[in-house]
Amino acid sequence: MIDIKRLAETVCKSTEPLVIAGPCSAETPEQVMETAKELSADGRVNLLRAGIWKPRTRPNSFEGVGAIGLSWLVDAGKEIGLPTTTEVANRHHAEAALEAGIDVLWLGARTTVNPFAVQEIADVLKGVDIPVMVKNPVNPDLALWMGAFERLSKSGINQMLAIHRGFSTYSKTRYRNVPNWELPLDFISQCPDIPMICDPSHIAGRRDLLQEVSQKAMDLNYRGLMIETHPSPDNAWSDAKQQITPAGLTTLLTALTLRKAQPDDEVKQGLEEIREKIAVLDDNLFDLLAKRMELAREVGAYKRENNITIFQQEHWSKMISQRLSKSENYGLTSKFIRQAIEAIHQESIRHQTHVMNANFEKKHLE
Ligand code: PEP
Ligand code: MN
Repeated sequence: MIDIKRLAETVCKSTEPLVIAGPCSAETPEQVMETAKELSADGRVNLLRAGIWKPRTRPNSFEGVGAIGLSWLVDAGKEIGLPTTTEVANRHHAEAALEAGIDVLWLGARTTVNPFAVQEIADVLKGVDIPVMVKNPVNPDLALWMGAFERLSKSGINQMLAIHRGFSTYSKTRYRNVPNWELPLDFISQCPDIPMICDPSHIAGRRDLLQEVSQKAMDLNYRGLMIETHPSPDNAWSDAKQQITPAGLTTLLTALTLRKAQPDDEVKQGLEEIREKIAVLDDNLFDLLAKRMELAREVGAYKRENNITIFQQEHWSKMISQRLSKSENYGLTSKFIRQAIEAIHQESIRHQTHVMNANFEKKHLE
């Protein structure tokens, strides 16, 4: 049986991503076989995908060929010597996929949102040693995503992978599903044992963004990529705009800049030197902040003596606009300047309040 976690870890050590490729949907036996053969020419694909049951947003669009397509996928995988994976959304799908000999299952974004469906699948998988990949839920909810892994884990599944495929929004953006990169990064820090891969196809929703999204995932040290590929993408029965040809996948993979997560000694030393300089600046920055707070206490004492309030709206607005007017000189975003000055101001108010209260207590003790 394929050890997907090990595979993800092995490929990651060599900086190469784990590559999962294949059509959005299995359409015909010939289309699945042709895609597989063309993909095998690249030599970097590790796992062959095809959607058999398609969760479509609206009815009357192609909803997948159904169980009949499972053997097309298994046969294509055998032909090129690669393990296979498909999406399962309920107990019947999971049972049929296991029966057909699919090697790895995945839970789609519309399944991860539904704890009943996840539990139903986890129950079918009890005692079955099969790797399962879980896409993020359609809404940006970290606990829901983690919950799906917990349900699978309770069923004894221990080879699991997370797939970041972006999140739905009502507003129009350049992405089909906005990436919200900070959410998967939070997932990685909370679940460091579950490798994270990226599905640029469903984040981008369009071919011309795939390279950029894939590169970003590699820069963030994701372990792999799932990319939809079709021999004739424009004629695909689902997700035509985001699919690329197997040759297109080769171009994309070749153009990726793969960086090492663990630098070698020489690079490490260079990095240390720069980090050392940053640490010195950080020291200065905090020394200055401490001095600034000393002045804040002095202001607090002065206000106390003259019986005026700590917070004065007019002064505060002036302080913010003075800083913001310099944002271009600093080369800093106005969002950052606003956040930084607000944090400093809050701390300053805390120091001033302290001075006021100390005086209050003193007065009442006398
Ligand atoms: C898919 O991979 O084809 C798919 C339906 O994905 P998602 O669950 O991310 O929408
Ligand atoms: Mn798709």
